[in-house]
Amino acid sequence: MKPTVCVLGAGRMGSSIARALLSHGYDTRVWNRTAAKCEPLASQGAQIAPSVVDGIQGADVVIINVLDYVASSALLKQGNVLSVLAGKTVVQLTSGSPRLAKEEATWVGSHGASYLDGAIMATPDFIGRPEATLLYSGPREVFETHKDLLTTLGGGTSYVGDVPGQASALDTALLTQMWGGFFGALQGMAVVEAENLSLETFRHQLTAFKPVVDGALCNLIDRTKARRFAGDDATLASLGAHYSAFRHLLEVCEEQSLDASLPNVMDRFFRQALSLEGPEGDFASLAPLFRENLTVAPSLEPANA
Ligand code: NAD
Repeated sequence: MKPTVCVLGAGRMGSSIARALLSHGYDTRVWNRTAAKCEPLASQGAQIAPSVVDGIQGADVVIINVLDYVASSALLKQGNVLSVLAGKTVVQLTSGSPRLAKEEATWVGSHGASYLDGAIMATPDFIGRPEATLLYSGPREVFETHKDLLTTLGGGTSYVGDVPGQASALDTALLTQMWGGFFGALQGMAVVEAENLSLETFRHQLTAFKPVVDGALCNLIDRTKARRFAGDDATLASLGAHYSAFRHLLEVCEEQSLDASLPNVMDRFFRQALSLEGPEGDFASLAPLFRENLTVAPSLEPANA
């Protein structure tokens, strides 16, 4: 039998979550700080819970999706809510840090409820679609018990580990890569327009270049995993070749009076890696600069071979 679900928070994401559950026949109750936001969901079959405690009391699974953990904690840590948490499964889909997720897991567990922490790698319009990825961490058995329900929110539903903060950590890592790409695109657009090219051309060529970049990204991850920082026959482009091309960016920034804050930081990393690994190093030789515990393996060949 399908569990009854309570969704706390009917903002953009919470409403999409509730809609996906309703479309799969889940008995869904919704609560929102401003009740009016629940009304469109009521017309699709949701029951509006008059209070958080009422919503939780009638549900097997409580999905939380509010702005942040401060708001989420304030909802759960009300005296009357504490008394109805035991035996429930709390699925936290509010964005938070790994530390907050671990603290919340401990707190919820101490009140007799099961806890899963999730990270949504999708916008509300993707919820319920096969392409939507949602990451979960916490006790595997809790994930397995509710896998059918969780999969209704996205076909790419994945369990990533038993430490509650691991989904949030992966979320942060994936978003970091996204922001890196976005910042790079902003810098690239400045170059494109300064050199009288259209953004449409940039967009088109960026899309065409994407498979090459995606392949190089995976290669970077694989080499870092294997600690293969020295250049070798499988190196796609040496650090020296990367740096030579990168210097064109510094030159354009100077010539066109573009902001060079970001390229200057990248330049510092390039120079540091070059001083450690030499121009024949692999691009992956930059990886140890981002953490202390990853030592640079000695080069297999002299830097100027
Ligand atoms: P939203 O602004 O549309 O909704 C925020 C919700 O939080 C509303 O229901 C609001 O009533 C509630 N809220 C805010 N402060 C509250 C408080 N003090 N007490 C009770 N409720 C409170 O935001 P959203 O886009 O739906 O995002 C919700 C969560 O989902 C966030 O943690 C966000 O990071 C995460 N998320 C959003 C997206 C997205 O694309 N929108 C993607 C991934 C994750």
